[in-house]
Amino acid sequence: MSFKDLLLNKPILKAVAEIGYNDPTLVQNKAIPLILKKKDLIVSAQTGTGKTAAFALPILQLLFDKQDALKRGKKIRTLVVSPTRELAVQINEDFNKYGTYTNLRTTVVFGGTSIEPQKDILKKGVDILIATPGRLLDLHKQDIINLDYIETLVLDEADLMLDMGFIDDVKKIERLCPNGKQTLLFSATIPYKVEQLANNILNSPERIEI
Ligand code: AMP
Repeated sequence: MSFKDLLLNKPILKAVAEIGYNDPTLVQNKAIPLILKKKDLIVSAQTGTGKTAAFALPILQLLFDKQDALKRGKKIRTLVVSPTRELAVQINEDFNKYGTYTNLRTTVVFGGTSIEPQKDILKKGVDILIATPGRLLDLHKQDIINLDYIETLVLDEADLMLDMGFIDDVKKIERLCPNGKQTLLFSATIPYKVEQLANNILNSPERIEI
């Protein structure tokens, strides 16, 4: 399979070619077509398998296909929840790289640092938000973030998120997003606690094991 065979469109293919990826990885081959079909997914894949691009590329494409000039940058339509600042920053960098030719706006918010500059960026409007759970809920409580327009929710490193004690925060975040959204759960391993969370929040999910 090539990236073209996965039915990715030109702005995405151009960015991927410039970065120098030749072919999709296994998780990308399996996940990209299902995400483009708006399926819910539970994916067990370690870091290093190319899992970030596996969700970022099709999400960028879905948003790009649907974007009209009026809506762009006004509502958060994709939310990626990540357990740590380092991972969140990396995911944001990846979205920016892959989305170079899409005009979609991406930003990242995390705790342990001043909230004001994050508020200023959010007030200007973004399409894609990457966030750690605590800071996300803080900003939501302060009415800076509206999750009513989320079309796709990604929970990355779900096992780590639960190990770090974020289960209630994650459930709360999920409930703040609309009912009909697509949810993608990525986890290195799928212990019972992750399985339970998946059962609670995913809608007839497809399962991918790498
Ligand atoms: P991840 O599993 O998302 O942490 O990605 C691991 C590394 O693989 C990152 O440095 C990516 O830039 C790289 N990568 C992702 N997809 C591909 C691909 N299709 N071909 C080559 N490298 C890739």
